[in-house]
Amino acid sequence: MFYDKNNIFAKIILGDIPCKKIYEDDSVLAFEDVSPAAPTHILVIPKGEYVSFDDFCKKAGDVEVSNFFKVVQKVASQCGVSGSGYRVIMNHGDDASQTVHHFHAHILGGRNLGGLVQGDIHNR
Ligand code: AMP
Repeated sequence: MFYDKNNIFAKIILGDIPCKKIYEDDSVLAFEDVSPAAPTHILVIPKGEYVSFDDFCKKAGDVEVSNFFKVVQKVASQCGVSGSGYRVIMNHGDDASQTVHHFHAHILGGRNLGGLVQGDIHNR
């Protein structure tokens, strides 16, 4: 899939669309999800143009990949969910129901998140 420069997260990086910013550095931005699925629901995105987790791992350099995941951990810690626990989700493609095609990691926490996959038992 090609990278659409007009996707909503590209606009957030440019400041054309507002966000509730949690963290920012030269290459990573973290902000609150507009439709939270848990009391803590943060999105962490690289500023580079990557469509998905798969694309990011294939195209980004080792330092960029490493820095990104260090920030995910730092943001989770900053949001106070490290002690109680949290889940990191990175959707890639249609079967994962990825809706925004700019790579992002969801950090979810603040309540017990239950089983791994919604509808797990029925979908086996
Ligand atoms: P995914 O299904 O993994 O692609 O997740 C996309 C996420 O982006 C969803 O959880 C949306 O609620 C979230 N989202 C969409 N637009 C915005 C926005 N303008 N600001 C913050 N989060 C957004």
